[in-house]
Amino acid sequence: MTAFLRLKSLLLLLACVLVSDCASSDSSSAAGRGGARDSATTVYLSREEALRTVFPEASRVLEEEIVLSADERRAAEELLQARMGERAFTVYAGVSADGGLDGYAVIQAEIGKFKPFEFIVGVEPDGHVRRVAVLVYREARGAEVAHRRFLEQYRRKTVQSPIQIQRDIIHITGATMSVNAMNLGVKKVLSVIEVAYRKQPERIEKLLRSGRQVFPQAKAAWKEGSGSFTRGTGLEVREARYIMGSLCEIRACGGDAKKLRSAIFKAFCAMEAADRALSDYRPDSELSRICREGATAPVPISELTAEFLELAEKLERDSGGAFDLTIAPAVWAWGFRKGAGFGPHVDRAPTPAELDELRPLVDYKNVSLSRGPSGRWEVRLLRDGVRLDPGALGKGFAVDLAVRQLVKEGVSSALVDFSGNMYALGSPPGEESWLVGVRDPVRPEGVLGMVKLQNQGISSSGSYEKFVELGGARYGHILSPQTLRPVDGIFGTTVIAPTAALADGCSTAAYVLGEDALPFLRKEPGVEGLVVLGGEGGSSRFLATKQWNLSTVEDAWAVTR
Ligand code: AMP
Ligand code: MG
Repeated sequence: MTAFLRLKSLLLLLACVLVSDCASSDSSSAAGRGGARDSATTVYLSREEALRTVFPEASRVLEEEIVLSADERRAAEELLQARMGERAFTVYAGVSADGGLDGYAVIQAEIGKFKPFEFIVGVEPDGHVRRVAVLVYREARGAEVAHRRFLEQYRRKTVQSPIQIQRDIIHITGATMSVNAMNLGVKKVLSVIEVAYRKQPERIEKLLRSGRQVFPQAKAAWKEGSGSFTRGTGLEVREARYIMGSLCEIRACGGDAKKLRSAIFKAFCAMEAADRALSDYRPDSELSRICREGATAPVPISELTAEFLELAEKLERDSGGAFDLTIAPAVWAWGFRKGAGFGPHVDRAPTPAELDELRPLVDYKNVSLSRGPSGRWEVRLLRDGVRLDPGALGKGFAVDLAVRQLVKEGVSSALVDFSGNMYALGSPPGEESWLVGVRDPVRPEGVLGMVKLQNQGISSSGSYEKFVELGGARYGHILSPQTLRPVDGIFGTTVIAPTAALADGCSTAAYVLGEDALPFLRKEPGVEGLVVLGGEGGSSRFLATKQWNLSTVEDAWAVTR
């Protein structure tokens, strides 16, 4: 038994060393050879974060190591319908406020194509999968297995459910082996929980009574999952987390890893607060409440939401309505929310008559933001059916909140990268500025070149990022508020601005304005923009506010999306 456990700890230790090693080399190879990432270790969650993800309600988390007896292993293999290489597992149990079992979890490592990757499988007390989340992924391809949308497919599966690629779980091109490995790992965890606990309730009692408490107390143990290494004359701590369904990575540099880690943690909390207030996926967000109730009575809102709406209003005015938060009903009509189980099912492009019906709803002047009699901000919708889409501004806005928090915590050098919406704070130790690769909108797997950033935000917009296929045609996700149709004739835009929110909003607005983007971009102080338009026979044409000095250095820290 102890030999098994020792072997397992050794493997875990080795995995941790690999994580920090790869993390440091990965950051400098992001845009080499035309922008492909070839050293691809990504740390998505630390173990603590993974446990918080699967046990959001638990008051405590306990752990115990178990070794399956020969009979238990046989029973588990029968359920699994495959041989099981390992006998030892670390099982986590969430404990609810009343002392009962909140759920189980196992952090499982499986080999993808060439390398092991780690994921957590959270299981309800009744044996259903609660949540699967990836901690670390190391393959050059197939990182989509770490995306929330992919992982949602495992929810509610039981030990009896078939879990097969292409039949029960969608296949990801280039990641067949990782998907198969994850299917096996999830099933393995379900079999072990079934055999070791659900069939032996006394073992649950024992675990609740005598399991080792790992959370909330033993904070020092939670090191895995976050890369920390030397950078120039200082230290860089790098952590990643899923927020608003997208990956956000923060790199912060300084002299004290503990302080940096704590600052990053607070920065993520600030971003999560933005998500809670502004998400259109959460029925309880302030934004959702505005959409539900704003046409009936003024809806009181927080300073944070007011700041977001004020900035949106400025962009709407400055862009002459090319940027418009009230675009939401048209976004739904084109089916851009159906993948998330939100918005109507759409299998064809909306007809001109259907779009005409939505037209009165899409107008930013339908939103009225003011201070109520008590001085508190409130919002009214001047028409029934008006809906707000935070998608063009939310990520940049959240990045700025993270940066403010980092600065408050004394951090002066950081790069916040929220799926390509970025802010470069100060510069890396011993270097002049942060280097960011600008995605090539014509060949999105590559970069146009590098830009140097210091206390600036950057964001790109393009239809390569998100599109729907309806009736055999492809439609991009940025719509003209005038025609309510996807904008075409443009490949993409990139904007640098004094804040990440301004860069995010301006890149979307410039995409809508296309040929007319430059006068708008030039109005905004500190803003520089690059617009790549479609030309004759699939060629491209560049418009820019200034000569962009895109260097060809191969050492990008991150790449815009
Ligand atoms: P981004 O990737 O920042 O350019 O934002 C694109 C997202 O903004 C889309 O997926 C829509 O949710 C939303 N959107 C689309 N068209 C517009 C528009 N004209 N104004 C504001 N938001 C838009
Ligand atoms: Mg944007």
